[in-house]
Amino acid sequence: MKKQKIVVFWFRRDLRMNDNHGFYQALKSGFPVLPVFIFDKNILSDLEQTDSRVTFILHEAQKLQDEFEKRGSTFWIYHGTPQDAFNRLLSEFDVAEVFTNQDYEPYARERDKAIYELLEDEGIRLRAFKDQLIFHKNEIVKADGSPYTVFTPYSKKWLSAMTEKDYQAYPSENLLENLVKLAPLRKYHHVDLGFKKGEYKIPPLELNTSVMNSYADTRDFPALAGTSRLGVHLRFGTVSIRQVTEVAVQTSATFLNELIWRNFYMDILWHFPHVVRKSFRPAYDFIRWQNSEKDFARWCAGTTGYPMVDAGMRELNATGYMHNRVRMVTASFLCKHLLIDWRWGEAYFAEKLLDFELASNNGGWQWAAGSGCDAAPYFRVFNPELQQKKFDSNFEYIKKWVPEFGTSAYPEPMVDHKMARQRAISTYKEGLRDR
Ligand code: FAD
Repeated sequence: MKKQKIVVFWFRRDLRMNDNHGFYQALKSGFPVLPVFIFDKNILSDLEQTDSRVTFILHEAQKLQDEFEKRGSTFWIYHGTPQDAFNRLLSEFDVAEVFTNQDYEPYARERDKAIYELLEDEGIRLRAFKDQLIFHKNEIVKADGSPYTVFTPYSKKWLSAMTEKDYQAYPSENLLENLVKLAPLRKYHHVDLGFKKGEYKIPPLELNTSVMNSYADTRDFPALAGTSRLGVHLRFGTVSIRQVTEVAVQTSATFLNELIWRNFYMDILWHFPHVVRKSFRPAYDFIRWQNSEKDFARWCAGTTGYPMVDAGMRELNATGYMHNRVRMVTASFLCKHLLIDWRWGEAYFAEKLLDFELASNNGGWQWAAGSGCDAAPYFRVFNPELQQKKFDSNFEYIKKWVPEFGTSAYPEPMVDHKMARQRAISTYKEGLRDR
């Protein structure tokens, strides 16, 4: 039997039908489009069996599958390696081209290169489109073509370059009649990944303009619901960055600035992939961390005796989320007060955060450790008590997560702030000497 000629659209971190750039281009290609998703064994094998992010992806894939089936089409879902998935696809279909959206992480770049070559051998083109960012690669660089490593000039250039066109939607949702017409191949929702249902609750996808209108005043106070909670949706692409950017332009320059931070860290990762394992500033890899397992365990459990730190860690452990202000406080505490390598904390956040995103997590941790591209000078050490006075002055956030605070059941501070501050400064000074 003659195989059907189709194009493939490969969904990854863009799990939505609307305003999806690569999907839009595929639907305009003139060939019927087969939507594909791969549960990548290389990624899944590193995750806990109860990872709530896997539950979320399964749920979103199921929603897409229902939508495609409603339109007489299907969702081709595979559990295995991308190489095996594509070999299988090529045996089942006559594939004219493969469309996808660009991914910027080192693993994804390697994976895509391998698939590009596999397809190229068959004379098939893999085309990747810009979708998860407003600007990417070399679009925002210095006049001499080199990448920015400091946020403020980057953000100025970003803002001066941006026009309405940059956040105009690609209305893929209007072209769904171009999906391949196929009876459901299989009931893929029974695809068994061997995972159990995760416990963390995903915040609803809401572009709440009242939150954004007051964002500049509320964003720093962890007891308030003063931020968008869009992180997980931006991470998996269940919302379009163009749509979020449009709302930010209309509501809040401060909110837009945070989206630019996201874009900045993604560009840093693209230009300097070594940050995944090493300090952005090489000298910082000479700091002699104490790396006490015992101290690390207390930090993870939220029993340091510093209530702002403990509230943050307990919020993270209980919900898979931590407020940004508190992420800064807890991260700084781990690196500076406990002298534990930022990579330990980065890995813990990566395991727990629903909105875990390699570029922003790595950027946030290297910022806190002082090793990052645009980090505060190392001798600035956050004072957790002062942070509490400024941002949780009524102990509202703390009491929510540390109910025993103020009673004899709550531990004494595990390190003295003054001593820890001096120790951090001298350890950093020593590590950075003559480098
Ligand atoms: P909002 O304040 O409503 O911001 C909207 C969106 O802007 C966020 O969803 C996010 O996509 C982006 N954003 C906001 N602040 C930042 C920032 N400082 N850097 C980069 N992007 C930002 N963010 C992640 O998305 N994933 C991570 O894994 C992550 N790890 C972090 C680790 C540390 C140590 C620190 C200090 C920050 C980290 N951040 C991370 C940034 C920030 O804390 C979260 O994006 C934010 O708290 C998510 O909540 P929200 O969606 O309500 O954000």
